Amino acid sequence: MVGASYAGLACAAAAAAGGLDVTVLEAKREIGLRPHTTGILVQEAIEHAPHLPAALVRPVRGVRLYSPSLRSFDLCADGYAFFAADTPALLRWMAQDLHRHGDVTLRTSARFQGAEEQTENHAEGLYLPAQDLFTRYLVGADGARSSVARHFDLGRNRDYLIGMELEFAGQAHVDERFLHVFMDCALAPGYIAWVVPGIGITQVGLACRHPARLAIEKFLEKIRPLCDFSTLTPLERRGGLIPVGGMVSPIAARRVLLVGDAAGMVSPLTAGGIHKALELGALAGTAVAQHLKGLGLNPEQRLLAAAPRYRVKRLLRRLANYGVPDACIEAVFGNVLFQRFAQLVFFHHRGLFSRKGWNAVFGKNGG
Ligand SMILES: Cc1cc2nc3c(=O)[nH]c(=O)nc-3n(C[C@H](O)[C@H](O)[C@H](O)COP(=O)(O)OP(=O)(O)OC[C@H]3O[C@@H](n4cnc5c(N)ncnc54)[C@H](O)[C@@H]3O)c2cc1C
Repeated sequence: MVGASYAGLACAAAAAAGGLDVTVLEAKREIGLRPHTTGILVQEAIEHAPHLPAALVRPVRGVRLYSPSLRSFDLCADGYAFFAADTPALLRWMAQDLHRHGDVTLRTSARFQGAEEQTENHAEGLYLPAQDLFTRYLVGADGARSSVARHFDLGRNRDYLIGMELEFAGQAHVDERFLHVFMDCALAPGYIAWVVPGIGITQVGLACRHPARLAIEKFLEKIRPLCDFSTLTPLERRGGLIPVGGMVSPIAARRVLLVGDAAGMVSPLTAGGIHKALELGALAGTAVAQHLKGLGLNPEQRLLAAAPRYRVKRLLRRLANYGVPDACIEAVFGNVLFQRFAQLVFFHHRGLFSRKGWNAVFGKNGG
């Protein structure tokens, strides 16, 4: 496994549970060090992790959506919550939890640098010279700019959002029940800006289509009337690329499979990737274990059958890339149809284009 983040750790756990000896290579010197994510989890992700210690996540009831002129309305759904996470601690916990699943070796400061086909003890596989390691199968869970994809000439992400985030110690004076989401075509063209009251920290960030300059200081200045960050201690500044072009192709070669951001398994519209990294990472681990025992379909087919195609979301992403002028957002912001559409985007993760979702927009069955 290359990469010890959401996809790699979920995949390693499932592969080990399936009876494989697993080695995870992580380029960073510590698991969870400087993660380039806000780390918001959708409820479905939490439902798949029944053992997750409650202290690592904090439920957030809903979304407070702001117009460019800072008008706002609140979005909530009965029985649904998002979860702010202590991301470094969450990834460390996932890494420690690996041993519960089976035989896993974790190597940090271990950067994948290439592999060559080799036969060892009559088994065919891949040899990684930098780690002096032989493996029968290699999974690339090494993020948006995957070295595994590059080395094996697999599909590569080409369409990105670029995000930047500041982390402050303590809580800013914002309502902690909400994720605060800001629409602003000038500061975040093609995407949004946000303030997240996390666990003992506050995260402030924005993302826009790549390439672009990220004016986070201007954003802090703009929202100063709502929350003044000048009194809080800055802890970290981080940034990263979010692949939003949909699944890459191909995602596999002989004995090699990509998963998570490396495979483009991110929602092109909402840019959420953690849930799919966890879910499809686990599926990939199970599929590889069964494949190596001569059971089931090959892992690529299993993954392709389960991964969303994101056809409509990719179309909407292209529209969003053109940017919606602030004046248009202001004009529709108070409109009930706009508010219901926003509800659909934020809360119908499984069926954005389902009949049920659109009935909600147009007020049928209670909306
Ligand atoms: C600013 C920002 C905010 C985001 N916020 C959210 C959010 O709130 N909610 C959400 O669902 N999604 C969010 N995303 C997207 C989400 O973070 C990703 O989809 C998710 O992290 C993908 O997980 P992954 O395991 O596939 O890859 P990554 O988390 O990128 O992990 C890849 C791992 O591989 C390691 N690695 C890389 N190269 C090598 C190598 N050669 N050898 C060994 N190891 C290597 C890296 O060090 C890293 O640990 C955000 C993204 C960004 C950039």
